[in-house]
Amino acid sequence: MKVKVGINGYGTIGKRVAYAVMRQDDMKLMGVTKTRPDFEAYRAKELGIPVYAASEEFLLRFEKADFDVVGTLGDLLEKVDVIVDATPGGMGARNKALYEKTGVKAIFQGGEKATTAEVSFVAQANYEKALGKDYVRVVSCNTTGLTRTLSAIQEYVDHVYAVMIRRAADPNDTRRGPVNAITPGVTVPSHHGPDVQTVIPINIETSAFIVPTTLMHVHSIMVDLKKPVEAKDIIDIFEDTTRVLLFEKEKGFESTAQLIEFARDLHREWNNLYEIAVWRESVNVRGNRLFYIQAVHQESDVVPENIDAIRAMFEMAEKWDSIRRTNESLGIVG
Ligand code: NAD
Repeated sequence: MKVKVGINGYGTIGKRVAYAVMRQDDMKLMGVTKTRPDFEAYRAKELGIPVYAASEEFLLRFEKADFDVVGTLGDLLEKVDVIVDATPGGMGARNKALYEKTGVKAIFQGGEKATTAEVSFVAQANYEKALGKDYVRVVSCNTTGLTRTLSAIQEYVDHVYAVMIRRAADPNDTRRGPVNAITPGVTVPSHHGPDVQTVIPINIETSAFIVPTTLMHVHSIMVDLKKPVEAKDIIDIFEDTTRVLLFEKEKGFESTAQLIEFARDLHREWNNLYEIAVWRESVNVRGNRLFYIQAVHQESDVVPENIDAIRAMFEMAEKWDSIRRTNESLGIVG
C-alpha cells in the first residue's frame, strides 16, 4: 500500500518535495495547492499533478483564468494520509488546526517554530524520534547542513562556533535583498545554534551575515575538540557520511558557483545539490581546534528529509533502509 501525500504550498520547497514523492515506489502524490493560476500551476497540471486551490477565497482567481482546479485544500485533506506543509514560514502553525481537525498527519518546514511539531527532524541524526509521530518539523536548510556534519563528528565535539554566510534570496525571488550590502545579524548568538539543539544535544553558538547571492549558503565552522583527532580522520568520517560530499578547490571548486555547476553537470533537476558540500582543504586541526567550511544548497538539502520523515511517521522502513531508498531515488551520491 502506498502512503497518500499532499503538498500545501507549491513553491521552492513544495515543488521539489512533490517531485521527490513522485519518485518513491511507496508513496503517491495526491495533489498540490496553489494560491493562483501562475506558470507553476500550469506546469504542475502538465505533469499530471492534481491542482487544488489553497483555500476557497482563491477559487475566483482560477475561475477567471478558466483554470480547472480539482477542489480546495479541504478536499485534498480528505484524500491524503499526510500533508507536507511548505507554505511561507509561520503559516504552517496556523494551518495545523485544520490538519488536526481532518486527522491528517503533517510535516512542517524550518520556517515554523520547533513547538509546532512533536519532533524536529534530520534523518541521519534522529530518524527514530519521528517513528509513528503525527507532526514532524523538517528543520531549516542551515540547521540541516550543520546537523549533518556535526552529528557525524559529535563524539569529538566539545563546543562549536559557526559563522553562517547566508544567501540573500532564492534565485526566483525578486523581492528580497540586499542587492549591494552585507547585513550582519546583530543578535548574537543567531537562532541557528539553538535550532540545531532541537535535533541533537550539542554545545553550539552561531552568528550570521546575509550577502548578495542566491546560489547557496556557506558556513565557517570551528570546533573545540573534546579529544584529539587529526584532519584526515575527520575527512574519513565525512567521506563515510551520507548526504555530505567533499569537494576540492584544487579540482576547480573555488566557490559556490562551481558547486552549482557540478549539480548542473549531473543533470540534477533544478540543479539540486541535496548533499552538504565540504571543502576538503578547509578541514584543518590546529591544537585542540577543528576548522572546516561547508556550503548548503538551500533550495534542496531538506527535500530528502521530507521523504524520510514520511517513512518514519508511518513506520514504513528502518532508518538506513529509508535513507538508502530516498538517496537512490534522487541520485544522491554521498
Ligand atoms: P516559497 O515562497 O517559495 O513557497 C511558498 C508557497 O506557498 C508559494 O508557492 C506561495 O504561493 C504558497 N502560499 C502562500 N500562501 C499560501 C496559503 N495560504 N496556502 C497555501 N500556499 C500558500 O517558500 P519556500 O522557500 O518554499 O519556503 C517554504 C517553507 O520552507 C518555509 O517554512 C521556509 O522557511 C522553509 N524552507 C525554505 C528554504 C529555502 O531556502 N527556500 C529552505 C529550507 C526550508
